[in-house]
Amino acid sequence: MTATRWLAEYAWLPDRSEPTADVLIEAQDGRFTAVTPLAGAGAPTAGVEVLTDAVRLPGLTLPGLANAHSHAFHRALRGRTHGGRGDFWTWRDQMYAVAARLDPDSYLALARATYAEMALAGITSVGEFHYLHHTPDGTAYDDPNAMSAALVEAAAHAGVRITLLDACYLTASVDGGPLTGPQVRFGDGDAARWAERVAAFTPEGGHARVGAAVHSVRAVPAEQLGTVASWARERDAPLHVHLSEQPAENDACRAVHGCTPTRLLADRAVLGPATTAVHATHPTSADLALLGESRTGVCLCPTTERDLADGIGPARRMADAGSPLSLGSDSHAVIDIFEEARAVELDERLRTRRRGHFTAARLVDAATVAGHAALGWTDAGRLAVGARADLVTVRLDSARTAGVPPVGAFFAATAADVAHVVVDGRTVVADGRHLAVDVPAELQAAITEVTA
Ligand SMILES: [Zn+2]
Repeated sequence: MTATRWLAEYAWLPDRSEPTADVLIEAQDGRFTAVTPLAGAGAPTAGVEVLTDAVRLPGLTLPGLANAHSHAFHRALRGRTHGGRGDFWTWRDQMYAVAARLDPDSYLALARATYAEMALAGITSVGEFHYLHHTPDGTAYDDPNAMSAALVEAAAHAGVRITLLDACYLTASVDGGPLTGPQVRFGDGDAARWAERVAAFTPEGGHARVGAAVHSVRAVPAEQLGTVASWARERDAPLHVHLSEQPAENDACRAVHGCTPTRLLADRAVLGPATTAVHATHPTSADLALLGESRTGVCLCPTTERDLADGIGPARRMADAGSPLSLGSDSHAVIDIFEEARAVELDERLRTRRRGHFTAARLVDAATVAGHAALGWTDAGRLAVGARADLVTVRLDSARTAGVPPVGAFFAATAADVAHVVVDGRTVVADGRHLAVDVPAELQAAITEVTA
């Protein structure tokens, strides 16, 4: 790969409280080799030869955005679940109907289009929390990891990195009820067989890595949690877990185990700095302390939590307790990390009727470096020498962003304002257009296929 240089009108550099003007960014072989504010003391005075060969990036250039929690197939449900009342559990029945329709080919098509929508939104890494492992009757495909391979291939086509978080999903309820109906294809029988299957999967391409997931305390019996946690620890792989998304999960866990889900995970050595709890919408104060003291991350998915009437997670208290925060679009009711990020602040305002819980820089951090770290890409998410060369440029001249100061972009921009995306030094989106995928057409075709 040849060297490339870009001239960003504004760029959000690490550990700055606001963007910096006129930054020359250089990369070679997918890594940043120089990040130089031209107006800084001692910097070159914007030599003409420097500027003529640099790609101009008008607007605000950010590090790559990380979508730390995705179920790609949920994209097919967007806009189809608002017909009546109901809650998470009635939505889940509709989600299962789509799950039952997918095979490796149709999932490749749907995920490719969904990940390409993510690329258009400035997402450079996705954490795919994957549990659709087997055929609809629960038997394995000829390649038991065929669905995982389809997701990894989809991400390659879309030009984004993927952390395939292979989820262990064994039971239907905290008290060990068996998987039934559409759920049977999620299950491997027990955690040892889950581990054996996942260990046999080597993703193709440098854009992919494998992590582990405990679907939830509903889906993995307490005595088998340690098997999943050890698998991840031995490989230094990220470990994700849905946690306390619903009060009903907390109630069931207390009834069966006499403790909260967080306490159960702590006792089974599931928590720690490589672990990310997804949602954690309904924790107790003791749960928050367990998460924070163990440096367990929390991935907030505010637009999904809104859509499913789940509640508002105590983001400020989580951060104060010591948990790094990341963001995910989860059910893909929308795919817009700007919206997820500002919701972290705005939802706190609704709850507390006060403003000013998270600075813009803190939200950028959750959307970029912290999200990448939660997915095991610890060398991404910063505009800094040596980091992976990911760039996301947001227009500041759209109908939404015109007149907005660069520092305010996270409170004004939408995914539609992303103009230019570079992943590992490769341009994936230019002038708001995906270079490899006709995103609306492919989404339409893939969703029709699984919903018609
Ligand atoms: Zn989820």
